[in-house]
Amino acid sequence: MSIAQRAPEYIRAISPYIPGKPISELAREMGLREEEVVKLASNENPLGASPKALEAAQKALKEAHRYPDGNGFALKTALTRKFGVAQDQIVLGNGSNDLLDLCARAFLHAQTSAIYSQYAFAVYPLAVKSVGAQGIEVLARNFGHDLPGMLTAIRSDTRLVFIANPNNPTGNFLPGSEIEAFLDAAPSDVLIVLDEAYNEYLDPEQRYDAVAWLAKYPNLVIIRTFSKIYGLGGLRAGYALANPAVADLLNRVREPFNVNNVALAAAEAALGDAEFLSRSHAVNHAGKAQLIAGLNALGLEFIPSSGNFLTFRVADTAAVNRKLLEQGVIVRPLGNYQMPEWLRVTIGLPEENERFLAALKQTLGRAA
Ligand SMILES: *Cc1c(COP(=O)(O)O)cnc(C)c1O
Repeated sequence: MSIAQRAPEYIRAISPYIPGKPISELAREMGLREEEVVKLASNENPLGASPKALEAAQKALKEAHRYPDGNGFALKTALTRKFGVAQDQIVLGNGSNDLLDLCARAFLHAQTSAIYSQYAFAVYPLAVKSVGAQGIEVLARNFGHDLPGMLTAIRSDTRLVFIANPNNPTGNFLPGSEIEAFLDAAPSDVLIVLDEAYNEYLDPEQRYDAVAWLAKYPNLVIIRTFSKIYGLGGLRAGYALANPAVADLLNRVREPFNVNNVALAAAEAALGDAEFLSRSHAVNHAGKAQLIAGLNALGLEFIPSSGNFLTFRVADTAAVNRKLLEQGVIVRPLGNYQMPEWLRVTIGLPEENERFLAALKQTLGRAA
């Protein structure tokens, strides 16, 4: 038997995550300068990171030889102030992906199941399958979560339900009232993981207070990230807010030093930069309108999005994607999401959106 065959069948059955193509790779492949490449493939903040976060990161780098504070006291303190939760309700992660994994590791094993929606974030099945549990995918409704359907799918062996709001890669939004109704109806011994990676991009009228629900639903875990609007995807930091008993379990299975010095410092500073946050929201709001106008002009169908990206339909995704790449524009094909006719574009700066729309128009050979 080969060494690879020694890995459990459930590990060998995992399909790898396909990330957005890095700028350096496309530049190499197409003989372009890196400055010529527009990357709109990974839902990154086109403004970069908050200057305050970068300054804090620089300072923290000088302590590179020191182990980080494994408890993340300073960042947790900033989070307790912002959300009115206690220190023991917070778990920090090496990106929120880490926290999704911790939930799976703490609550699942081979004889259990977890529920997620069709077209939901690809990391959910990865996290579930890597611990040998069974993933139950519930059919989507208009590309979004069918919460009543997900409720019906809960079995006696179900320990966990993932809900992404807004969802990636479709951008669908669930009003707070619908999530609250789901929490009310779900068994209290099933962990409900509410992944709010794009929460800060919501418009004021969409906002809801998930943190207030923690007092009422001890089976709720809220997961947020510093990778999206905070612009720190490269540093890896996220946080979970939960009932102290749940947070304690997640803390037991995490790596003792899972969040590094630089990420901790940058995240803390980013959390306090309200000006950067509102500027990022405004740039995204305007960029979304720009892209929607452009896609409409090209006669392309898209899914209404509450995130910092838009998912649109083209007939021949492979050909369109290739031609965009040849013009130095990276978007995300969604074949691995069972959406072979769709491409996802991250909302960029006005000039990046323009580059993308011009390249798309050129590719489709259409007047707009
Ligand atoms: C990007 C994303 C994440 C997490 O990214 P991290 O960089 O690991 O924090 C989590 N959930 C969704 C839905 C995302 O799109």
